[in-house]
Amino acid sequence: MGGSNKKIVVVGGGIGGLSAGIYGRLAGYDVEIYEKNPRAGGQCMGWDRRGCHIDNCIHWLTGTKKGTSLRKVWETVGALDEHTEFADCDSFYTSMVGDLRVTLWKDPDRTEKELLELSPEDGTEIKKFIQYVKYAMECEMPAEKPMDAMGIMDYIHMGASMANMPKVIKEYGSIDLQGMAERFKHPALKALFTDYLPKDYVASSFLVSYASIISGNGEIPKGGSLAMANRMVKRFQELGGKLYCNAPVARILIKNGRATGIETADRRTIWADYVISSVDTMELFANLIGKEYMDGKWKSCYGDMQKYPLFTSVQAAFMVGQEAYGGRGTVFFDCPSFEAGGRNIDRISVKSFEYEPGFAPAGKTVLQVNIPQFDKEYFYWKGLAREEYERRKDGVVKAIEERLVMRFPGLKGHMEFLDCWTPVTYERYCNAYHGAYMSFITRKGVKSFRARGIVKGVKNLYIASQWIMAPGGLPVAVTAGKFAVWRIAGKEKR
Ligand SMILES: Cc1cc2nc3c(=O)[nH]c(=O)nc-3n(C[C@H](O)[C@H](O)[C@H](O)COP(=O)(O)OP(=O)(O)OC[C@H]3O[C@@H](n4cnc5c(N)ncnc54)[C@H](O)[C@@H]3O)c2cc1C
Repeated sequence: MGGSNKKIVVVGGGIGGLSAGIYGRLAGYDVEIYEKNPRAGGQCMGWDRRGCHIDNCIHWLTGTKKGTSLRKVWETVGALDEHTEFADCDSFYTSMVGDLRVTLWKDPDRTEKELLELSPEDGTEIKKFIQYVKYAMECEMPAEKPMDAMGIMDYIHMGASMANMPKVIKEYGSIDLQGMAERFKHPALKALFTDYLPKDYVASSFLVSYASIISGNGEIPKGGSLAMANRMVKRFQELGGKLYCNAPVARILIKNGRATGIETADRRTIWADYVISSVDTMELFANLIGKEYMDGKWKSCYGDMQKYPLFTSVQAAFMVGQEAYGGRGTVFFDCPSFEAGGRNIDRISVKSFEYEPGFAPAGKTVLQVNIPQFDKEYFYWKGLAREEYERRKDGVVKAIEERLVMRFPGLKGHMEFLDCWTPVTYERYCNAYHGAYMSFITRKGVKSFRARGIVKGVKNLYIASQWIMAPGGLPVAVTAGKFAVWRIAGKEKR
Protein backbone atom coordinates (compact mmCIF):
# COMPACT_ATOMS: atom_id res chain seq x y z
CA MET A 1 0.00 0.00 0.00
CA GLY A 2 1.76 3.22 -1.02
CA GLY A 3 1.41 4.92 2.39
CA SER A 4 -0.33 7.93 0.86
CA ASN A 5 -2.81 9.78 3.02
CA LYS A 6 -4.68 11.14 0.03
CA LYS A 7 -8.31 10.23 0.23
CA ILE A 8 -10.91 9.07 -2.27
CA VAL A 9 -14.58 9.12 -1.34
CA VAL A 10 -16.75 6.81 -3.44
CA VAL A 11 -20.48 7.53 -3.64
CA GLY A 12 -22.44 4.30 -4.03
CA GLY A 13 -21.42 0.75 -3.22
CA GLY A 14 -22.56 -1.16 -6.32
CA ILE A 15 -20.13 -3.14 -8.45
CA GLY A 16 -18.68 0.08 -9.94
CA GLY A 17 -18.18 1.61 -6.51
CA LEU A 18 -16.68 -1.49 -4.93
CA SER A 19 -14.32 -1.87 -7.87
CA ALA A 20 -13.24 1.78 -7.56
CA GLY A 21 -12.72 1.23 -3.83
CA ILE A 22 -10.57 -1.85 -4.32
CA TYR A 23 -8.44 -0.33 -7.08
CA GLY A 24 -8.17 2.85 -4.98
CA ARG A 25 -6.76 0.86 -2.07
CA LEU A 26 -4.41 -1.03 -4.39
CA ALA A 27 -3.11 2.32 -5.66
CA GLY A 28 -2.43 3.39 -2.08
CA TYR A 29 -5.30 5.79 -1.39
CA ASP A 30 -7.43 5.94 1.72
CA VAL A 31 -10.89 5.02 0.48
CA GLU A 32 -14.34 5.41 2.00
CA ILE A 33 -17.48 4.18 0.27
CA TYR A 34 -20.86 5.70 1.17
CA GLU A 35 -23.83 3.50 0.25
CA LYS A 36 -27.45 4.43 0.85
CA ASN A 37 -28.71 0.86 1.35
CA PRO A 38 -28.13 -1.46 4.31
CA ARG A 39 -25.79 -3.56 2.18
CA ALA A 40 -23.46 -3.02 -0.76
CA GLY A 41 -23.92 -4.59 -4.20
CA GLY A 42 -26.43 -2.24 -5.82
CA GLN A 43 -28.22 -3.96 -8.70
CA CYS A 44 -26.04 -7.04 -8.26
CA MET A 45 -28.31 -8.19 -5.47
CA GLY A 46 -30.34 -11.05 -4.05
CA TRP A 47 -32.73 -11.34 -1.11
CA ASP A 48 -34.47 -13.99 0.92
CA ARG A 49 -38.20 -14.76 1.05
CA ARG A 50 -39.89 -17.68 2.82
CA GLY A 51 -36.80 -19.86 2.99
CA CYS A 52 -35.82 -19.14 -0.63
CA HIS A 53 -33.18 -16.89 -2.16
CA ILE A 54 -34.19 -14.61 -5.03
CA ASP A 55 -31.27 -13.72 -7.30
CA ASN A 56 -31.79 -10.39 -9.02
CA CYS A 57 -28.91 -10.17 -11.41
CA ILE A 58 -26.37 -12.46 -13.04
CA HIS A 59 -27.75 -14.26 -16.08
CA TRP A 60 -24.28 -14.27 -17.51
CA LEU A 61 -21.10 -12.65 -16.33
CA THR A 62 -18.89 -11.56 -19.18
CA GLY A 63 -15.23 -12.08 -18.34
CA THR A 64 -15.25 -15.54 -16.79
CA LYS A 65 -12.84 -17.02 -19.33
CA LYS A 66 -9.38 -17.56 -17.89
CA GLY A 67 -6.60 -15.55 -19.50
CA THR A 68 -8.78 -12.64 -20.64
CA SER A 69 -8.01 -9.18 -19.30
CA LEU A 70 -11.55 -8.85 -17.92
CA ARG A 71 -11.15 -12.11 -15.95
CA LYS A 72 -8.05 -10.54 -14.38
CA VAL A 73 -10.16 -7.58 -13.30
CA TRP A 74 -12.80 -9.88 -11.74
CA GLU A 75 -10.01 -11.73 -9.92
CA THR A 76 -8.39 -8.51 -8.72
CA VAL A 77 -11.64 -7.34 -7.16
CA GLY A 78 -12.18 -10.73 -5.52
CA ALA A 79 -15.35 -11.55 -7.47
CA LEU A 80 -13.73 -14.64 -8.97
CA ASP A 81 -10.67 -16.70 -8.18
CA GLU A 82 -9.05 -19.71 -9.77
CA HIS A 83 -11.32 -22.04 -7.77
CA THR A 84 -14.62 -20.31 -8.58
CA GLU A 85 -17.24 -22.81 -9.63
CA PHE A 86 -19.84 -21.96 -12.22
CA ALA A 87 -23.45 -23.01 -12.60
CA ASP A 88 -24.03 -26.17 -14.55
CA CYS A 89 -26.11 -24.75 -17.43
CA ASP A 90 -26.11 -26.35 -20.86
CA SER A 91 -28.05 -23.69 -22.73
CA PHE A 92 -28.46 -19.95 -23.19
CA TYR A 93 -32.26 -20.25 -23.36
CA THR A 94 -35.17 -22.03 -25.04
CA SER A 95 -38.02 -20.50 -27.05
CA MET A 96 -41.31 -22.33 -27.31
CA VAL A 97 -43.89 -21.67 -29.99
CA GLY A 98 -46.90 -23.78 -29.12
CA ASP A 99 -45.34 -27.05 -28.02
CA LEU A 100 -42.31 -26.66 -30.25
CA ARG A 101 -39.04 -25.97 -28.45
CA VAL A 102 -35.90 -24.40 -29.95
CA THR A 103 -32.78 -23.95 -27.88
CA LEU A 104 -29.58 -22.01 -28.16
CA TRP A 105 -27.29 -24.60 -26.61
CA LYS A 106 -23.90 -23.90 -25.13
CA ASP A 107 -22.66 -26.26 -27.83
CA PRO A 108 -23.13 -24.29 -31.08
CA ASP A 109 -22.88 -27.39 -33.25
CA ARG A 110 -25.81 -28.93 -31.41
CA THR A 111 -27.75 -25.70 -31.94
CA GLU A 112 -26.92 -25.69 -35.64
CA LYS A 113 -27.93 -29.34 -36.08
CA GLU A 114 -31.25 -28.88 -34.30
CA LEU A 115 -32.12 -25.64 -36.09
CA LEU A 116 -31.32 -27.21 -39.46
CA GLU A 117 -33.52 -30.21 -38.65
CA LEU A 118 -36.31 -27.88 -37.64
CA SER A 119 -36.15 -25.64 -40.68
CA PRO A 120 -34.04 -26.82 -43.62
CA GLU A 121 -35.33 -23.94 -45.72
CA ASP A 122 -33.58 -21.53 -43.34
CA GLY A 123 -30.34 -23.47 -43.79
CA THR A 124 -28.28 -20.64 -45.27
CA GLU A 125 -29.23 -18.15 -42.56
CA ILE A 126 -28.79 -20.73 -39.78
CA LYS A 127 -25.29 -21.66 -40.95
CA LYS A 128 -24.36 -18.03 -41.34
CA PHE A 129 -25.64 -17.22 -37.84
CA ILE A 130 -23.60 -20.01 -36.22
CA GLN A 131 -20.50 -19.09 -38.22
CA TYR A 132 -20.74 -15.45 -37.18
CA VAL A 133 -21.41 -16.35 -33.55
CA LYS A 134 -18.15 -18.29 -33.69
CA TYR A 135 -16.42 -15.20 -35.12
CA ALA A 136 -17.90 -13.16 -32.27
CA MET A 137 -16.22 -15.45 -29.72
CA GLU A 138 -13.12 -13.33 -30.30
CA CYS A 139 -14.83 -10.23 -28.99
CA GLU A 140 -13.20 -9.09 -25.79
CA MET A 141 -13.96 -5.97 -23.86
CA PRO A 142 -10.86 -3.78 -23.35
CA ALA A 143 -10.15 -3.92 -19.62
CA GLU A 144 -6.56 -2.66 -19.39
CA LYS A 145 -7.27 1.04 -19.72
CA PRO A 146 -10.10 3.33 -20.90
CA MET A 147 -10.67 3.29 -24.65
CA ASP A 148 -10.05 7.03 -24.96
CA ALA A 149 -6.56 6.42 -23.52
CA MET A 150 -5.70 3.67 -25.96
CA GLY A 151 -2.92 4.42 -28.40
CA ILE A 152 -2.35 3.21 -31.93
CA MET A 153 -0.46 0.12 -30.73
CA ASP A 154 -3.34 -0.83 -28.43
CA TYR A 155 -5.74 -0.62 -31.36
CA ILE A 156 -3.42 -2.65 -33.58
CA HIS A 157 -3.19 -5.31 -30.89
CA MET A 158 -6.95 -5.28 -30.35
CA GLY A 159 -7.59 -5.46 -34.10
CA ALA A 160 -5.26 -8.46 -34.47
CA SER A 161 -6.89 -10.38 -31.63
CA MET A 162 -10.39 -9.72 -33.00
CA ALA A 163 -9.70 -10.05 -36.70
CA ASN A 164 -13.15 -11.49 -37.43
CA MET A 165 -15.20 -8.97 -35.47
CA PRO A 166 -15.47 -6.50 -38.37
CA LYS A 167 -17.28 -9.25 -40.32
CA VAL A 168 -19.82 -9.58 -37.49
CA ILE A 169 -20.34 -5.82 -37.37
CA LYS A 170 -20.68 -5.62 -41.14
CA GLU A 171 -23.27 -8.41 -41.31
CA TYR A 172 -25.21 -7.86 -38.07
CA GLY A 173 -24.24 -4.35 -36.92
CA SER A 174 -26.71 -2.45 -39.05
CA ILE A 175 -29.82 -4.52 -38.39
CA ASP A 176 -31.77 -4.90 -35.18
CA LEU A 177 -33.06 -8.19 -33.78
CA GLN A 178 -36.41 -7.68 -35.47
CA GLY A 179 -34.60 -7.34 -38.80
CA MET A 180 -32.53 -10.41 -38.06
CA ALA A 181 -35.65 -12.44 -37.18
CA GLU A 182 -37.20 -11.43 -40.51
CA ARG A 183 -34.37 -13.19 -42.33
CA PHE A 184 -35.80 -16.50 -41.07
CA LYS A 185 -38.95 -18.17 -42.36
CA HIS A 186 -39.81 -20.53 -39.51
CA PRO A 187 -41.96 -18.84 -36.82
CA ALA A 188 -40.05 -20.56 -34.01
CA LEU A 189 -36.78 -19.09 -35.31
CA LYS A 190 -38.34 -15.66 -35.57
CA ALA A 191 -39.36 -16.00 -31.91
CA LEU A 192 -35.94 -17.34 -30.91
CA PHE A 193 -34.13 -14.26 -32.11
CA THR A 194 -36.48 -11.71 -30.60
CA ASP A 195 -37.09 -13.31 -27.22
CA TYR A 196 -34.01 -12.57 -25.17
CA LEU A 197 -33.12 -8.94 -25.75
CA PRO A 198 -35.39 -6.04 -26.72
CA LYS A 199 -36.20 -6.21 -30.45
CA ASP A 200 -34.63 -2.78 -30.90
CA TYR A 201 -31.17 -4.01 -29.91
CA VAL A 202 -28.62 -4.08 -32.67
CA ALA A 203 -28.26 -7.74 -33.72
CA SER A 204 -24.46 -7.87 -33.35
CA SER A 205 -24.75 -7.39 -29.57
CA PHE A 206 -26.96 -10.49 -29.40
CA LEU A 207 -24.37 -12.51 -31.30
CA VAL A 208 -21.67 -11.32 -28.91
CA SER A 209 -23.85 -12.36 -25.94
CA TYR A 210 -24.45 -15.87 -27.29
CA ALA A 211 -20.77 -16.12 -28.25
CA SER A 212 -19.73 -15.38 -24.67
CA ILE A 213 -21.94 -18.26 -23.46
CA ILE A 214 -20.43 -20.64 -26.03
CA SER A 215 -16.85 -19.69 -25.30
CA GLY A 216 -17.13 -20.00 -21.51
CA ASN A 217 -16.69 -16.25 -21.17
CA GLY A 218 -20.23 -15.73 -19.84
CA GLU A 219 -20.74 -18.15 -16.96
CA ILE A 220 -22.79 -17.73 -13.77
CA PRO A 221 -20.63 -17.93 -10.63
CA LYS A 222 -22.05 -20.36 -8.06
CA GLY A 223 -23.79 -18.62 -5.18
CA GLY A 224 -25.18 -15.95 -7.49
CA SER A 225 -25.18 -12.18 -7.47
CA LEU A 226 -25.24 -11.33 -3.77
CA ALA A 227 -22.48 -13.81 -2.96
CA MET A 228 -20.32 -12.22 -5.65
CA ALA A 229 -20.96 -8.70 -4.35
CA ASN A 230 -20.14 -9.91 -0.83
CA ARG A 231 -16.80 -11.30 -2.01
CA MET A 232 -15.96 -7.85 -3.36
CA VAL A 233 -16.98 -6.22 -0.08
CA LYS A 234 -14.69 -8.66 1.76
CA ARG A 235 -11.80 -7.88 -0.57
CA PHE A 236 -12.31 -4.12 -0.13
CA GLN A 237 -12.42 -4.38 3.66
CA GLU A 238 -9.44 -6.74 3.82
CA LEU A 239 -7.48 -4.12 1.90
CA GLY A 240 -8.37 -1.60 4.61
CA GLY A 241 -11.19 0.22 2.82
CA LYS A 242 -14.06 1.65 4.85
CA LEU A 243 -17.62 0.91 3.77
CA TYR A 244 -20.44 2.95 5.30
CA CYS A 245 -23.91 1.51 4.63
CA ASN A 246 -27.23 3.25 5.38
CA ALA A 247 -25.34 6.39 4.39
CA PRO A 248 -27.13 8.22 1.58
CA VAL A 249 -25.20 11.09 0.06
CA ALA A 250 -27.08 14.35 -0.52
CA ARG A 251 -24.47 16.37 -2.44
CA ILE A 252 -21.02 16.29 -3.91
CA LEU A 253 -19.24 19.42 -2.77
CA ILE A 254 -17.67 21.51 -5.50
CA LYS A 255 -15.50 24.54 -4.85
CA ASN A 256 -13.85 26.60 -7.58
CA GLY A 257 -14.52 23.88 -10.15
CA ARG A 258 -13.04 21.12 -8.01
CA ALA A 259 -14.77 18.33 -6.05
CA THR A 260 -13.78 18.64 -2.42
CA GLY A 261 -15.92 16.02 -0.72
CA ILE A 262 -19.51 15.09 -0.01
CA GLU A 263 -22.37 16.02 2.24
CA THR A 264 -24.33 13.07 3.58
CA ALA A 265 -28.12 13.14 3.92
CA ASP A 266 -27.70 13.56 7.67
CA ARG A 267 -25.68 16.71 6.94
CA ARG A 268 -22.17 15.54 7.70
CA THR A 269 -19.38 16.89 5.55
CA ILE A 270 -16.68 14.45 4.47
CA TRP A 271 -13.66 16.03 2.81
CA ALA A 272 -11.76 14.18 0.10
CA ASP A 273 -8.99 14.73 -2.43
CA TYR A 274 -11.02 12.88 -5.05
CA VAL A 275 -14.66 11.88 -5.38
CA ILE A 276 -15.76 8.94 -7.50
CA SER A 277 -19.48 8.76 -8.24
CA SER A 278 -20.70 5.25 -8.91
CA VAL A 279 -24.39 6.05 -8.54
CA ASP A 280 -26.83 6.10 -11.44
CA THR A 281 -25.67 9.01 -13.62
CA MET A 282 -29.03 10.83 -13.53
CA GLU A 283 -28.86 10.70 -9.72
CA LEU A 284 -25.39 12.25 -10.03
CA PHE A 285 -26.41 15.04 -12.39
CA ALA A 286 -29.90 15.79 -11.09
CA ASN A 287 -29.33 15.45 -7.36
CA LEU A 288 -25.68 15.32 -6.38
CA ILE A 289 -24.06 18.03 -8.53
CA GLY A 290 -26.76 19.71 -10.60
CA LYS A 291 -27.85 19.31 -14.23
CA GLU A 292 -25.77 22.31 -15.26
CA TYR A 293 -22.82 19.92 -15.29
CA MET A 294 -24.47 17.54 -17.75
CA ASP A 295 -22.71 17.91 -21.10
CA GLY A 296 -24.33 17.71 -24.51
CA LYS A 297 -23.67 14.02 -25.00
CA TRP A 298 -25.55 12.99 -21.86
CA LYS A 299 -28.29 15.55 -22.53
CA SER A 300 -28.94 14.28 -26.03
CA CYS A 301 -29.33 10.69 -24.84
CA TYR A 302 -31.43 11.42 -21.78
CA GLY A 303 -33.51 13.82 -23.85
CA ASP A 304 -34.46 11.36 -26.59
CA MET A 305 -36.24 8.24 -25.35
CA GLN A 306 -37.04 7.18 -28.93
CA LYS A 307 -33.44 7.15 -30.07
CA TYR A 308 -31.97 6.00 -26.77
CA PRO A 309 -34.60 3.86 -25.06
CA LEU A 310 -34.03 2.24 -21.69
CA PHE A 311 -35.33 -1.06 -20.50
CA THR A 312 -36.28 -2.50 -17.16
CA SER A 313 -38.72 -5.17 -16.01
CA VAL A 314 -41.52 -6.40 -13.83
CA GLN A 315 -40.53 -9.65 -12.19
CA ALA A 316 -42.21 -12.25 -10.02
CA ALA A 317 -40.67 -15.17 -8.15
CA PHE A 318 -42.31 -18.40 -7.01
CA MET A 319 -41.22 -21.44 -5.04
CA VAL A 320 -42.31 -24.58 -6.90
CA GLY A 321 -41.97 -28.32 -6.47
CA GLN A 322 -38.92 -29.33 -8.48
CA GLU A 323 -40.57 -32.43 -9.90
CA ALA A 324 -43.84 -30.62 -10.51
CA TYR A 325 -42.00 -28.23 -12.83
CA GLY A 326 -39.36 -30.55 -14.23
CA GLY A 327 -37.81 -27.89 -16.53
CA ARG A 328 -34.35 -26.38 -16.68
CA GLY A 329 -32.83 -23.09 -17.72
CA THR A 330 -34.72 -20.15 -19.20
CA VAL A 331 -37.82 -20.79 -21.32
CA PHE A 332 -39.90 -18.31 -23.33
CA PHE A 333 -43.47 -19.22 -24.25
CA ASP A 334 -46.68 -17.79 -25.76
CA CYS A 335 -49.56 -17.02 -23.47
CA PRO A 336 -53.00 -15.42 -23.58
CA SER A 337 -52.33 -11.70 -23.45
CA PHE A 338 -52.46 -9.69 -20.27
CA GLU A 339 -51.39 -6.24 -19.24
CA ALA A 340 -48.29 -5.33 -17.26
CA GLY A 341 -47.45 -1.69 -16.76
CA GLY A 342 -49.94 -0.78 -19.48
CA ARG A 343 -48.11 -2.98 -21.98
CA ASN A 344 -49.73 -5.91 -23.70
CA ILE A 345 -47.82 -9.11 -22.92
CA ASP A 346 -48.30 -12.31 -24.91
CA ARG A 347 -44.95 -13.99 -24.34
CA ILE A 348 -43.22 -14.51 -21.05
CA SER A 349 -39.96 -16.00 -19.89
CA VAL A 350 -39.41 -18.19 -16.89
CA LYS A 351 -36.03 -18.96 -15.40
CA SER A 352 -35.50 -21.93 -13.14
CA PHE A 353 -32.77 -21.85 -10.49
CA GLU A 354 -32.53 -25.63 -10.25
CA TYR A 355 -28.74 -25.23 -10.63
CA GLU A 356 -28.58 -23.61 -7.18
CA PRO A 357 -30.05 -26.17 -4.75
CA GLY A 358 -29.23 -23.82 -1.86
CA PHE A 359 -31.70 -21.22 -3.13
CA ALA A 360 -34.77 -23.24 -2.02
CA PRO A 361 -35.69 -25.92 0.53
CA ALA A 362 -35.10 -29.56 -0.47
CA GLY A 363 -37.28 -30.70 -3.35
CA LYS A 364 -38.17 -27.11 -4.30
CA THR A 365 -36.85 -24.63 -6.87
CA VAL A 366 -37.24 -20.91 -7.41
CA LEU A 367 -38.89 -19.88 -10.69
CA GLN A 368 -38.54 -16.29 -11.80
CA VAL A 369 -40.58 -14.58 -14.49
CA ASN A 370 -39.20 -11.48 -16.21
CA ILE A 371 -41.48 -9.17 -18.18
CA PRO A 372 -39.75 -6.45 -20.19
CA GLN A 373 -40.75 -2.85 -19.55
CA PHE A 374 -39.51 0.41 -21.04
CA ASP A 375 -39.59 4.14 -20.20
CA LYS A 376 -43.32 4.31 -20.88
CA GLU A 377 -44.15 1.50 -18.44
CA TYR A 378 -41.93 3.08 -15.81
CA PHE A 379 -44.16 6.18 -15.99
CA TYR A 380 -47.25 3.98 -15.71
CA TRP A 381 -46.07 2.36 -12.45
CA LYS A 382 -44.67 5.64 -11.13
CA GLY A 383 -47.98 7.40 -11.64
CA LEU A 384 -49.99 5.01 -9.45
CA ALA A 385 -50.99 5.78 -5.88
CA ARG A 386 -49.70 3.23 -3.36
CA GLU A 387 -52.89 1.14 -3.06
CA GLU A 388 -53.49 1.06 -6.78
CA TYR A 389 -49.85 0.15 -7.39
CA GLU A 390 -50.19 -2.85 -5.05
CA ARG A 391 -53.50 -3.84 -6.62
CA ARG A 392 -52.12 -3.81 -10.16
CA LYS A 393 -48.98 -5.65 -9.08
CA ASP A 394 -51.23 -8.35 -7.57
CA GLY A 395 -53.08 -8.48 -10.88
CA VAL A 396 -49.84 -9.12 -12.77
CA VAL A 397 -48.82 -11.85 -10.31
CA LYS A 398 -52.19 -13.58 -10.72
CA ALA A 399 -51.96 -13.37 -14.53
CA ILE A 400 -48.45 -14.83 -14.49
CA GLU A 401 -49.40 -17.61 -12.11
CA GLU A 402 -52.35 -18.64 -14.30
CA ARG A 403 -50.21 -18.66 -17.43
CA LEU A 404 -47.46 -20.71 -15.83
CA VAL A 405 -50.01 -23.33 -14.85
CA MET A 406 -51.54 -23.29 -18.36
CA ARG A 407 -48.12 -23.93 -19.89
CA PHE A 408 -46.81 -26.31 -17.21
CA PRO A 409 -49.95 -28.00 -15.78
CA GLY A 410 -47.86 -29.99 -13.29
CA LEU A 411 -47.37 -26.75 -11.36
CA LYS A 412 -51.01 -26.60 -10.31
CA GLY A 413 -51.11 -26.72 -6.52
CA HIS A 414 -47.31 -26.70 -6.30
CA MET A 415 -46.58 -22.97 -6.50
CA GLU A 416 -46.06 -20.48 -3.73
CA PHE A 417 -45.69 -16.81 -4.49
CA LEU A 418 -42.49 -15.25 -3.14
CA ASP A 419 -42.22 -11.68 -4.40
CA CYS A 420 -42.98 -9.24 -7.21
CA TRP A 421 -41.06 -6.10 -8.09
CA THR A 422 -41.34 -3.40 -10.74
CA PRO A 423 -39.33 -0.58 -12.41
CA VAL A 424 -40.28 1.59 -9.43
CA THR A 425 -38.61 -0.92 -7.09
CA TYR A 426 -35.33 -0.43 -8.95
CA GLU A 427 -35.75 3.30 -8.68
CA ARG A 428 -36.47 3.15 -4.95
CA TYR A 429 -33.69 0.69 -4.20
CA CYS A 430 -30.85 2.05 -6.35
CA ASN A 431 -32.08 5.45 -7.53
CA ALA A 432 -32.17 3.84 -10.98
CA TYR A 433 -33.35 6.28 -13.65
CA HIS A 434 -36.66 4.99 -15.07
CA GLY A 435 -35.85 1.75 -13.24
CA ALA A 436 -33.15 0.94 -15.81
CA TYR A 437 -30.28 -1.32 -14.85
CA MET A 438 -28.47 -1.35 -18.18
CA SER A 439 -27.22 1.68 -20.13
CA PHE A 440 -28.88 3.17 -23.24
CA ILE A 441 -30.00 0.58 -25.79
CA THR A 442 -27.89 0.64 -28.94
CA ARG A 443 -30.39 0.77 -31.79
CA LYS A 444 -29.54 0.18 -35.41
CA GLY A 445 -28.22 3.29 -37.09
CA VAL A 446 -27.62 5.02 -33.75
CA LYS A 447 -24.12 5.50 -32.42
CA SER A 448 -23.47 3.30 -29.41
CA PHE A 449 -23.24 5.45 -26.28
CA ARG A 450 -19.86 5.96 -24.65
CA ALA A 451 -18.75 8.66 -22.21
CA ARG A 452 -15.37 9.31 -20.65
CA GLY A 453 -16.06 8.85 -16.96
CA ILE A 454 -15.24 12.45 -16.10
CA VAL A 455 -17.47 15.47 -15.51
CA LYS A 456 -16.68 18.47 -17.66
CA GLY A 457 -16.07 21.53 -15.52
CA VAL A 458 -15.36 19.62 -12.30
CA LYS A 459 -11.83 18.55 -11.48
CA ASN A 460 -11.19 15.54 -9.23
CA LEU A 461 -14.62 14.04 -9.86
CA TYR A 462 -14.85 10.75 -11.76
CA ILE A 463 -17.69 8.44 -12.79
CA ALA A 464 -17.51 4.70 -12.12
CA SER A 465 -20.89 3.48 -13.31
CA GLN A 466 -22.28 0.98 -15.80
CA TRP A 467 -23.95 3.95 -17.51
CA ILE A 468 -20.77 5.21 -19.14
CA MET A 469 -20.76 2.67 -21.94
CA ALA A 470 -23.57 0.85 -23.76
CA PRO A 471 -24.82 -1.76 -23.18
CA GLY A 472 -23.79 -1.28 -19.53
CA GLY A 473 -23.99 -4.18 -17.10
CA LEU A 474 -21.47 -5.69 -14.73
CA PRO A 475 -18.36 -5.66 -16.98
CA VAL A 476 -18.80 -1.96 -17.70
CA ALA A 477 -19.36 -1.22 -14.00
CA VAL A 478 -16.29 -3.12 -12.82
CA THR A 479 -13.99 -1.64 -15.45
CA ALA A 480 -15.41 1.85 -14.88
CA GLY A 481 -14.29 1.53 -11.25
CA LYS A 482 -10.82 0.47 -12.31
CA PHE A 483 -10.58 3.23 -14.93
CA ALA A 484 -11.64 5.98 -12.52
CA VAL A 485 -8.69 5.08 -10.29
CA TRP A 486 -6.47 4.67 -13.37
CA ARG A 487 -7.21 8.31 -14.26
CA ILE A 488 -6.55 9.54 -10.71
CA ALA A 489 -3.34 7.54 -10.34
CA GLY A 490 -2.23 8.61 -13.82
CA LYS A 491 -2.75 12.24 -12.96
CA GLU A 492 -0.54 11.80 -9.92
CA LYS A 493 1.97 9.79 -11.97
CA ARG A 494 1.57 6.78 -9.66
C1 LIG B 1 -32.75 -8.20 -13.24
C2 LIG B 1 -31.35 -7.82 -13.62
C3 LIG B 1 -30.60 -8.67 -14.39
C4 LIG B 1 -29.31 -8.31 -14.75
N1 LIG B 1 -28.56 -9.22 -15.45
C5 LIG B 1 -27.28 -8.91 -15.73
C6 LIG B 1 -26.44 -9.88 -16.33
O1 LIG B 1 -26.83 -11.02 -16.55
N2 LIG B 1 -25.17 -9.51 -16.66
C7 LIG B 1 -24.71 -8.25 -16.44
O2 LIG B 1 -23.56 -7.97 -16.77
N3 LIG B 1 -25.48 -7.31 -15.86
C8 LIG B 1 -26.75 -7.62 -15.49
N4 LIG B 1 -27.53 -6.70 -14.87
C9 LIG B 1 -27.05 -5.31 -14.77
C10 LIG B 1 -26.11 -5.07 -13.60
O3 LIG B 1 -26.65 -5.58 -12.42
C11 LIG B 1 -25.88 -3.57 -13.43
O4 LIG B 1 -25.58 -2.99 -14.67
C12 LIG B 1 -24.73 -3.28 -12.48
O5 LIG B 1 -24.86 -4.01 -11.29
C13 LIG B 1 -24.69 -1.78 -12.20
O6 LIG B 1 -23.61 -1.49 -11.35
P1 LIG B 1 -23.30 0.01 -10.94
O7 LIG B 1 -22.28 -0.06 -9.85
O8 LIG B 1 -22.98 0.82 -12.13
O9 LIG B 1 -24.68 0.63 -10.39
P2 LIG B 1 -25.63 0.21 -9.19
O10 LIG B 1 -25.65 -1.24 -9.01
O11 LIG B 1 -26.91 0.91 -9.41
O12 LIG B 1 -24.89 0.83 -7.92
C14 LIG B 1 -25.07 2.15 -7.52
C15 LIG B 1 -25.13 2.15 -6.01
O13 LIG B 1 -25.26 3.50 -5.57
C16 LIG B 1 -26.20 3.55 -4.50
N5 LIG B 1 -26.73 4.90 -4.45
C17 LIG B 1 -27.57 5.51 -5.33
N6 LIG B 1 -27.79 6.77 -4.97
C18 LIG B 1 -27.05 6.99 -3.84
C19 LIG B 1 -26.85 8.11 -3.00
N7 LIG B 1 -27.44 9.29 -3.24
N8 LIG B 1 -26.03 7.97 -1.93
C20 LIG B 1 -25.41 6.78 -1.67
N9 LIG B 1 -25.59 5.68 -2.43
C21 LIG B 1 -26.40 5.79 -3.51
C22 LIG B 1 -27.23 2.51 -4.89
O14 LIG B 1 -27.96 2.10 -3.75
C23 LIG B 1 -26.33 1.40 -5.46
O15 LIG B 1 -25.91 0.52 -4.45
C24 LIG B 1 -28.79 -7.05 -14.41
C25 LIG B 1 -29.53 -6.21 -13.60
C26 LIG B 1 -30.80 -6.59 -13.19
C27 LIG B 1 -31.56 -5.69 -12.26
